[in-house]
Amino acid sequence: MRSIVRLAVASILPILLCVSGCGVSDEAPEPVVPADDYSGRTTYIEVELTADLSGLTDNQRAMLPLLIEASRTMENAFWRQAWGDRDALLASIEDEETRRFAQINYGPWDRLDDNRPFMDGIGDKPRGVQLYPQDMTVEEFEGAVAASADDGAALKSLYTVIRRDAGGLFAVPYSEVYAEELGRAADLLEQAAALAEDDGFREYLKLRATAMRTDDYRASDMAWMDMKDNTVDVVIGPIESYEDQLFGYKASFEGYVLIKDTAWSDRLSRYAAMLPGLQEGLPVEDAYKRESPGTDSDLNAYDAIFYAGDCNAGAKTIAINLPNDEQVQLAKGTRRLQLKNTMRAKFDNILVPLAEILIAPDQREKVRFEAFFGNTMFHEVAHGLGIKNTLDGSGTVRQALKDHASALEEGKADILGLYMVTQLIENGEDTGATLEEHYATFLASIFRSVRFGASSAHGKANMIRFNFFNERGAFSRDEEGFYRVNSDQMRDATNALAEKILTLQGNGDYDGVASLVAELGVVHDTLGADLDRLAGAGIPVDIVFRQGEDVLGL
Ligand code: ZN
Repeated sequence: MRSIVRLAVASILPILLCVSGCGVSDEAPEPVVPADDYSGRTTYIEVELTADLSGLTDNQRAMLPLLIEASRTMENAFWRQAWGDRDALLASIEDEETRRFAQINYGPWDRLDDNRPFMDGIGDKPRGVQLYPQDMTVEEFEGAVAASADDGAALKSLYTVIRRDAGGLFAVPYSEVYAEELGRAADLLEQAAALAEDDGFREYLKLRATAMRTDDYRASDMAWMDMKDNTVDVVIGPIESYEDQLFGYKASFEGYVLIKDTAWSDRLSRYAAMLPGLQEGLPVEDAYKRESPGTDSDLNAYDAIFYAGDCNAGAKTIAINLPNDEQVQLAKGTRRLQLKNTMRAKFDNILVPLAEILIAPDQREKVRFEAFFGNTMFHEVAHGLGIKNTLDGSGTVRQALKDHASALEEGKADILGLYMVTQLIENGEDTGATLEEHYATFLASIFRSVRFGASSAHGKANMIRFNFFNERGAFSRDEEGFYRVNSDQMRDATNALAEKILTLQGNGDYDGVASLVAELGVVHDTLGADLDRLAGAGIPVDIVFRQGEDVLGL
């Protein structure tokens, strides 16, 4: 392993959020030479992405290069969404480290440092990236929605790009804009389907290929939910909407190739049955917990062998909770995939050294992988808890909270995950760690995630939680700069924040979320200085993969 970028991390800037009505920045500038100043760049450590393939059949092994190649086409499509012409940008960069850094970030903005441009002459990252006209205002978009015949369905669709001509704004389906990438991916998925031994997986691959050509992903999402026994899996297509920071409407392209870890999966399966009881026990008024969590959901551990596109940009995803389609969720729940090898790599390379600097010596040994794994597992389970539609019946929480929806949903999952751990341990369940270990590891994880910066939904949620916990004494900081969990206050703060978030979601209270973010989504001086101590210690912020056929021996 070697450090990709060895220089220090800059201080994380406070959030500057435009609540509503702001325009987006001017069109993207021409590619330029690298900036002279390399300091302040986010540090990554490179790790090999491997897994034990010895249990696979010949057909399963033969599928892997096809699935990896299909994922590579998502890489191309995501570059077009996030920046535009990848090859032109990379060719314009003479310095090798800067070029590598642009590849890690899928563009010239440092994703883990509030999208700060790291090349000269690059302006701010457009909030709507390449998914909307760069000079489009929110008012113009909302005007087009009001004037549309379909209530804005095409304009707000997850799977359209917004363009403008003399007649105004209009939506173009992904299957047209990204026809080349999606067509090739669909062909490769169909070739893989021909090799699939598992009936459910074969059906999913075929339907996913069809979805890429038709922009209708629901049938393939349903089929993906129906798969239970396949060892090889692929998550591929336009999926998460974090990259659209203007509205959160548009899905970005990504691909993962995965191998199921059956031993861990068996251990996880028993928690799924506990969801209804946990929903009932949520610390909030009944109206906010009246929806039933899907009980058909499953939770499994995987080793990832390939990441592409959105999930590989900046911070690497360690857990997946899909599909996002609320209709599929209501019908079938969600699947939660824990990416164990990625989690272990982050734990060993980031969290352990971080805890040595920031966590009090007597609580440091409580920062354990088993607790980290559990916290992450429960975060994913907790996405299924709470409320998906606003109480007034006007639509989904996501629609109501727009650009704040993702950050609040991540904050909800973190806090309800901690609520679940507390409940289960108090009920005598074995979660693999003690409550003190879960809490100490959770606190160490907040520092890790705050370093993702305000541009990430996870980073933003962690800043809010850090400040909320701090105000309520959930942890204390001693004169030497070491942090220590106060378990009783941590439990109380967890319940209080859970109630606050669930209420904001159920009310679809956009303004309430905006003021929460404005009030608590900031890094204060003391925390900023502590984060700089981490940077000075050379702890990487995240990992980057050496991956593909060669690493896997395929
Ligand atoms: Zn999440």
